[in-house]
Amino acid sequence: MDCIIFIVPMNPCPCGHFPDRSRCHCSEEQIRRYLGRISKPILDRIDICTEAAPVDFGELRGRGKAETSGQIRARVERVRRIQKERFAGRAIRFNSQMTVDDIRSFCRLEREEEDFFREVYQKKGLSARAYAKILKVARTVADLDGAAQIGHAHLCEAIGYRSLEEKYWQAPPAYHGAESTQYSGAESDSNGGDAL
Ligand SMILES: [Zn+2]
Repeated sequence: MDCIIFIVPMNPCPCGHFPDRSRCHCSEEQIRRYLGRISKPILDRIDICTEAAPVDFGELRGRGKAETSGQIRARVERVRRIQKERFAGRAIRFNSQMTVDDIRSFCRLEREEEDFFREVYQKKGLSARAYAKILKVARTVADLDGAAQIGHAHLCEAIGYRSLEEKYWQAPPAYHGAESTQYSGAESDSNGGDAL
C-alpha cells in the first residue's frame, strides 16, 4: 500500500502578514474569505497544521547548530523501522494507516493522559476524525522520542498540530487586533509566516 504525502503551504491572509496588524492591513472579510479557501472538511483531513516562523538573519548565518539532512533522514528511517516492526505481518506499514482497532491496540494512554485528552476533546469540540489523527500523530511523536508509551508531552505536541485550526479558522479575525491579548504570545513569532 503506497502512501502519498500531501503538503499544502499557504499564507494566513492575502498579504501574508496576518496576524501582525502593524503590517497586515487586509480587511476581516478578505482574511475570512482567504482562509475559507481551505474548508473545514479539508482541514479536518490534514494530519499536521503548523506555522513556519520567519527565519531571522542571525539564524541564517549561524553555523553548526542545525540538524543536517542526513541526521534527519536517519531519524526518519529509525522511526520507519519501529513502525515496520510494529505492523509486521499486517497490511499496513505506517502509523497514519492505523484503523480504529489498531489505534486501540497501539495508542493506549495512561489514565492521566486519557482524562486530559477527554477534556481537550470535549473543550475543543473535536471530531472523531481529529481524535484519531491526534492519536496517530502522538504515536509517531513518541516513536521519534524512542518511547514505547505515548506520554503527556507526545500527546500535547500532537494536539498542538491542530491548534492553528482554532487560531485561524474558528476565531474571528478581530480577535487578532492589537488590543487583543488572546494570542499575543504567538503573534510575534508568526509574523509573516506561512500557515499550515
Ligand atoms: Zn494581510
